Amino acid sequence: MDWVRRQSLTVAATYIIVAGLWIILSDRVLIAAVPETAVVTLAILQSVKGIGFVLVSGAFLYWLMERGMRQHIRIQDQYKELVELAPIAIFIQADDEVRYANAAALVLFGAESPDELLGRNIMSLITPEYHNSVRLRMAQLRATGMQVPPVEQDMIRLDGTIVRAEVAALPATWQGQPGVQVILNDLSQKRANEARLSHIITHDELTDLPNRTLLHDRLAQEIIHARRIGRSLALLVMDVARLQFINDSYGYEAGDQLLKSLANSLRESVRPGDTVARISGDQFAVLLSDLHDRSGLLTAIEKVRNSFAHTYKVSGNEVYVTLHSGAAAWPDDGDDPDALLGNAITACYRAKKSGSVETEFYAPSITAASRKRVTMELALIEAIANREFLLHYQPKVNARNGMIVGCEALIRWNSPKLGLISPIQFIPLAEETGHIQQVGDWVLREACRQMGEWKNLGLGVVPTAVNLSAPQLHQPGLKPMIYELIYEYGLTPSCLELELTESMIMGDTPRAIGVINRLRALGIKFSLDDFGTGYSSFSYLKTFRMDHLKIDISFVRDIVQSESSARITQSIIALGHGLGLKVIAEGVETVEQARLLADWDCDIFQGYYFSRPVDAAQFTRLLSDKCTYSWAAE
Ligand code: C2E
Ligand code: CA
Ligand code: CA
Repeated sequence: MDWVRRQSLTVAATYIIVAGLWIILSDRVLIAAVPETAVVTLAILQSVKGIGFVLVSGAFLYWLMERGMRQHIRIQDQYKELVELAPIAIFIQADDEVRYANAAALVLFGAESPDELLGRNIMSLITPEYHNSVRLRMAQLRATGMQVPPVEQDMIRLDGTIVRAEVAALPATWQGQPGVQVILNDLSQKRANEARLSHIITHDELTDLPNRTLLHDRLAQEIIHARRIGRSLALLVMDVARLQFINDSYGYEAGDQLLKSLANSLRESVRPGDTVARISGDQFAVLLSDLHDRSGLLTAIEKVRNSFAHTYKVSGNEVYVTLHSGAAAWPDDGDDPDALLGNAITACYRAKKSGSVETEFYAPSITAASRKRVTMELALIEAIANREFLLHYQPKVNARNGMIVGCEALIRWNSPKLGLISPIQFIPLAEETGHIQQVGDWVLREACRQMGEWKNLGLGVVPTAVNLSAPQLHQPGLKPMIYELIYEYGLTPSCLELELTESMIMGDTPRAIGVINRLRALGIKFSLDDFGTGYSSFSYLKTFRMDHLKIDISFVRDIVQSESSARITQSIIALGHGLGLKVIAEGVETVEQARLLADWDCDIFQGYYFSRPVDAAQFTRLLSDKCTYSWAAE
């Protein structure tokens, strides 16, 4: 029974009891008090009694009603206050319009006063994708007269931003009209609070790096991922040496500052997806994922370690920080997060104990050679960025008149860290690691630029041969790039020659034929380099239309002493001529070799006897001096 009915029944029952008692008792009292003869007096008294009853019952009714109404209003006010101050957003809608909104609802929708919300169509506060479901829920609510279960919904704030809320709706009356009370729970705030809490639980307070718990989770995830995609991952643990000493000498604040700086350096040294964590007071860990092989792992580790290789300012003093590091790779050094973390820490302690600054591997299977390779690859990456390469030029000499007919461009790398490095060492490395494209592009550009410079100096067109690597031949942009270079430096295509070896065209013969033919159609010349060392295949020579054939150094070197080398060289010259090619002899070091080759009708010479490969300035002098060579017998 509701409050109103109870109140009304109380008033009615009280009235019935009081009036009933009056009717029964009042006449008896009168008859007893007044003598039987005084009929007139009795009548008068009965009237007074009637008036008295009406007055008393009227006053009584007034008292009951006033009390009831006041109580009702008090309860309504209390309820309104409750809704108004509720921390949860509540509004009441009738005829699809907002009729009432509490303070929390104003905050949720970003309204400054209720007027901004009142009268608004509720659909204007809900993102369109929810309109249908809202209409359905309203219909359900009207049909059942019952609350509909809460759902998550995107609401539109007055400034147009979206807020995610959990929305419940229940029937209500608003000023005598049926309406709906809508209760909204702002989830974005809730989620933000949850996220903040979870961040606090999973991060180190000082550096804001993930802590050991989060590292463990990420390790577990990454192991699953690595297993699925068939890659490897590794965990590197680093121990800051002498942290206690720094704390003791400069104070804990200085130590904290140092740890923060170290954390920043570390964060910057890894790829965005890699996790850097602080796992104990003086230990950091880096989770390196998506590694292809051992060399990728070593490269990543080297990068992280290099990021520390500088001094840090601690309380105004420059401090050089040493780190001991240990690594464990998945799956070789541990199959699950605990094993991997434990083994990386063990390796790190081993490094610390021996005082080593090199990274210790849990299972030390890293050879010195692979370390050297990584060092060189890193230096190569720097060399590309810092332009540490240059080209040397070796003249090609006409075997009939001794004049320079062109040159071969040969790359040189002068590394500030590793010294002068031979192309025989770094070109294969660049090919394996994929850096050859950048190196090769640079060589082509530099050779073309130099040809343009000679032309501008009035030294004429100096046909220049550039060595190409296999990956370059299959590089999609090779032809347009060459075309652009020729155009940019005002050259003619026939002055650029590309040197290929047989093995380069073996891999994907039809494609190689396509590339070579397209470039030859432009007018570019081709040489088959190191001929005689590979397959020396006659059919290849026929398939690939070349311009020059270069007899390999190994034959030329022995032509004077070795009968067979002499015979092979002679047949290569004859073979080349038979196919309409010009024949170049490489590695001509002595006058005897030059004479023999000239007798055998070789077309062009190249070798130390004439000139070693020289830098651009020296080669320019050879050209401007119109240098000619001679090998004629005295
Ligand atoms: P290659 O193409 O066979 O180049 C000829 C090599 O023989 C050069 O060595 C040259 O300096 C050397 N040489 C020339 N004349 C003589 C001689 O009379 N006696 C002796 N013993 N050697 C002579 P280099 O410059 O060390 O180049 C080695 C190899 O590196 C080249 O062999 C070539 O395969 C590669 N290379 C050089 N520059 C480039 C380049 O820009 N790109 C590519 N992909 N490879 C290059
Ligand atoms: Ca060559
Ligand atoms: Ca060669």
